[in-house]
Amino acid sequence: MVKAKVWTLKNHFQGFPKASDFELKEVELPKLKDGEVLLASVFLSLDPYMRPYSQKSLKEGDKMMGSQVARIVESKNPTYHIGAFAVANGGWTTHFISDGKDLQLLPTPWPETLPISLALGTIGMPGLTAYFGLFEICRIKPGDILLVNSAAGAVGAVVGQLAKIGGCKVVGCAGSDKKVAYLKQIGFDEAFNYKTVGSLEEALRKASPSGYDCYFDNVGGEFSDIALRQMKKYGRIAVCGAISLYNDEELQKGPYVQVPMIYQELCMEGFIVSRWNNRREEGLKALLKWVVEGKIKYHEDVTEGFENMPAAFMGMLKGDNFGKAILKM
Ligand code: NDP
Repeated sequence: MVKAKVWTLKNHFQGFPKASDFELKEVELPKLKDGEVLLASVFLSLDPYMRPYSQKSLKEGDKMMGSQVARIVESKNPTYHIGAFAVANGGWTTHFISDGKDLQLLPTPWPETLPISLALGTIGMPGLTAYFGLFEICRIKPGDILLVNSAAGAVGAVVGQLAKIGGCKVVGCAGSDKKVAYLKQIGFDEAFNYKTVGSLEEALRKASPSGYDCYFDNVGGEFSDIALRQMKKYGRIAVCGAISLYNDEELQKGPYVQVPMIYQELCMEGFIVSRWNNRREEGLKALLKWVVEGKIKYHEDVTEGFENMPAAFMGMLKGDNFGKAILKM
C-alpha cells in the first residue's frame, strides 16, 4: 500500500494566498487495477493559473491542482513502462494513480544534456503558450516591434526569444534589475524594471518611440491600460494572462479599451493554450529543437522539498521566481 502526501486547499484564497490556506494530508492509495499506473512526482510545476482556477474549480478540502513530471513506478498498462517519465496533471501530490489517458510521455529522444523539468516550462505548457500566442494571436512578422511583460518568467522569456527568432525588435520588462540584466543577456533589445521606472508611459515610449505592433500581455490591469495607448495602427494584442488582477477580491474598474482600439484599429484576443492541443507535438518539437540549438535559453527557479510547495507557490505569485518556478521532490 502506497501512502501519498497531498497538499489540499484548506480555505479558498481571499486576496493573496496564505500558508494557512493549505493543508498537508496523507492518503492511502488503492491497489492498481488493470490499465492503471502508479506514478511518483519528480518535479512539480508552480503556475499562476492555480490562483484563479482553484477558485473556479476546487472545493475546500480538494487536492491542489497542478502538473508534474512523474516517474512510473508500477504499471498495469502496457503503454507505460516502469521507469518512464510522463507529464501528468496529478495535482500537488507525491504519488498518484492514472489510467494513462491524461499522461504525456516526454518528447523522444529527450537529450541527456537537458533537465526533464523543462517539460513543465520551456518545452512544456508555458513554452507552448508562448509559441501559439505569438505565432497565432500576435501573428508576428519580421520587423515588428513586440512588447512582453513578466518577460523573465516561464512564458515571457520564451515569447521574447521566439520573437527574436522571428525577426522582431523585442522590448520586455520585469520586476527586478537581475531579471532585466538576464533579458538583455538572452537577446532582448530593450528591457526595464517596471517597478523602478518613474513613469511606465515614458519607459515604454523611450524603449520604442514609434510604438508597438504586437503586445503579449501576461499582466493585464494598469500596465495594459498604458501599453494599449502606445500600440501602432492595426496592432495585435495577445491577452495571455492577468497576474496583476488574480488576487483582487473586487473587480477593478479601469480606463476602458474601446477608444484606443478604435483609433488604432487594434485586434485584441484572449486565448488558452489548450486551444492548440491538437498541435502540441508540433510546438514541442520546434521548442526542443531551438533549445538544443541554443536559440532559446532557459532559466529555472528550483525549490527543493515537497513541504515547501505552498511557500514556493506564494513566492512565484510575488515575483520571487527567476525563470520557471519548479519544485524538486
Ligand atoms: P511567471 O514565471 O512569469 O511568474 C509569474 C510572474 O508574474 C512573477 O515572477 C512576477 O514577475 C510577475 N508578477 C506578479 N505579480 C505581478 C504584478 N502585479 N504586475 C506585474 N507582474 C507581476 O509565470 P508564467 O510565465 O507561468 O505565467 C505568466 C502569465 O501567463 C500569467 O499571467 C499566467 O496566468 C499566464 N498564462 C496563460 C496561459 C494561457 O493559456 N493563457 C498559460 C500559461 C500562463 P516580475 O518580477 O517581473 O514582477
